[in-house]
Amino acid sequence: MVKLHDLEFEPYISEDEIMKVIDGISEILNSDFGDKKPVFLGVLNGSFMFASEIIKRFKGDCEVSFVKMGSYEGTETTGNVKTLLGLNQELKGRQVVLLEDIVDTGNTLVEIDQILKQSQVEDYKVVTLFYKPDAYKKDIPVHYKGMEIPNEFIVGFGLDYDGLGRNLTQVYKRK
Ligand code: 5GP
Ligand code: MG
Repeated sequence: MVKLHDLEFEPYISEDEIMKVIDGISEILNSDFGDKKPVFLGVLNGSFMFASEIIKRFKGDCEVSFVKMGSYEGTETTGNVKTLLGLNQELKGRQVVLLEDIVDTGNTLVEIDQILKQSQVEDYKVVTLFYKPDAYKKDIPVHYKGMEIPNEFIVGFGLDYDGLGRNLTQVYKRK
C-alpha cells in the first residue's frame, strides 16, 4: 500500500507484468518500423518511463522527441487539453510513433492528432501502455495497446496523482 497526498493506493500491476507487455509491443515495433527510421514522440509527463523502455528495445535508427500535454486535475480529467510544450522538430514526411502512457477519454489524442496533421507527417501510429476501453469515446485508431484496464485511477510507472507517484516502478490503483 502507498499513500500519496490524501489517497491510498494498492498494488495492481507488477513490474514483471509491465515489462512483459513492453517486450511484446517492442517486438511488433521492431518488425513494423525497424527500417523506417521513425520518430518516437512521447507525451509528457506520464509517458517518460514507458518511452524509455520502448526506445531502449528499438534496434533500428530512430529519433526521439516529446510534447507535453495536460488535462488532469487530481484524479479527474477536466476535458480541456492544453499543449504545455509543443513540437520543436520538423516532422514533415516522417513516420511517427506516438507513445502514450494511457489512453482514457481520448481528448489528448484528438489534440495531438491535429498537431501531427498540421505537421504533415507521412503517417503516425498510436502506442499506449494502458488503455481504458470503457472511457474511450473517440474515433482515432489506437494501434498498439499494451494492457486494457477498467475505469480506475492508477498511478506509478510514470503516472501521477497530483505530481506524486511517477517514480513507482509498478502500477497501483486507488484503494
Ligand atoms: P485522455 O485525454 O485520454 O482522457 O487522458 C490522457 C491522459 O490523462 C494520460 O496521458 C494521463 O496523463 C492522464 N490519465 C488518464 N487516466 C489516468 C489514470 O488512471 N491515472 C493517471 N495518473 N493519469 C491518467
Ligand atoms: Mg497526468
